[in-house]
Amino acid sequence: MTRVPFVDLRGQFTALEDDITRAIDEVLRSTAFVMGEAVGQFEVEFARFCGARFGIGVANGTDALLLTLKAFGVGPGDEVITPANTFVATVEAIVHAGATPVLVDVDPDTYTLATEQMRNLLTPRVKAIIPVHLYGHPAEMDPLLEMARAHGCVVIEDASQAHGAEYRGRRVGSLADAACFSFYPSKNLGAYGDGGAIITNREDIAERTRELRNHGSHRRDEHHTVGYNSRLDTVQAAVLRVKLPHLVEWNRKRQQHARRYAAHLQGIPGLTLPITRPGCSHAFHLYVVRVEDGSRDALREDLRARGVDARVHYPTPVHLTPAFRYLGYGPGAFPVSERNAGQVLSLPIYPELSEEQVAFVASAVAGAVRSAAGVRERGA
Ligand SMILES: *Cc1c(COP(=O)(O)O)cnc(C)c1O
Repeated sequence: MTRVPFVDLRGQFTALEDDITRAIDEVLRSTAFVMGEAVGQFEVEFARFCGARFGIGVANGTDALLLTLKAFGVGPGDEVITPANTFVATVEAIVHAGATPVLVDVDPDTYTLATEQMRNLLTPRVKAIIPVHLYGHPAEMDPLLEMARAHGCVVIEDASQAHGAEYRGRRVGSLADAACFSFYPSKNLGAYGDGGAIITNREDIAERTRELRNHGSHRRDEHHTVGYNSRLDTVQAAVLRVKLPHLVEWNRKRQQHARRYAAHLQGIPGLTLPITRPGCSHAFHLYVVRVEDGSRDALREDLRARGVDARVHYPTPVHLTPAFRYLGYGPGAFPVSERNAGQVLSLPIYPELSEEQVAFVASAVAGAVRSAAGVRERGA
């Protein structure tokens, strides 16, 4: 029986095995395991890829956000606006910086931050806004940046799901004051372990985050500030350097799979497909459909029985997650985020999927939706 896993990292490794093992071998022989040559090289290459001046490698995407907030001086007493519909890491970073997360609902169609709803939240305490390019679709940056400029706060992109996505002809990472990326293995650009990066055009922020990631130090035995140990491993930088030149092609394949899914799934009643706003290029980190009739969980189980592993991103919006209930938002606070939690379903999407696998997943979805509708009719 055909099985389509949700992610499959083996295909990519096999295709690049020789280059990867050579790159890792070089690091092993150099013994420069921490802050070796590949780190600086990757930082330059990835910043250039994003169309920005500076890249700072860090231990993971969550630290990228935390160190960036600290570099902008965000701390206790400050507020940071971010969407309720994101991976918890975005909000964790705000809390660890000592600031208070102020959550906003998301756009009903792109699921990214609902910019207009920020307007009456922009109190003098708000020091930063973190839009999330969720699932790989860029947030609506222009109106958001305009509002932030008028208010005098900084904007930090959470681009952890959107490596290579574009907004009005520019790649994410170069759209705001700074941007944060994760290289968790299953991201569009993934390491073979944890990794992250900060991208910015601001020299002061580049300098400050470089210091923060390395025990508050530029030079051995000089510690200007209380820092962290959050460096990008040399081995991971070496892996990322091998992979980066393939990212554009990989994203192109994800987009091709998305078009094929759309062609197969268009018109199935009760199923809403992802959209791409004009002027945006979607990186399709995830291909997220919505099942509107309440049968999402049953559909997911049925798909599993048919050999297709689908997942849910995310089953609980941040404000209803136990760790963040203390923020004081109750059920009903963010209707679109809450609707999505009950309806979203992520279908397998990665560059190495074959056309046959995409067709197989699509026909499994169509079959599962039909059988769910049949069950409802018989029950009625
Ligand atoms: C993956 C992810 C992060 C965190 O990245 P880690 O490298 O796992 O710390 C942050 N924000 C979003 C939206 C993510 O998807």
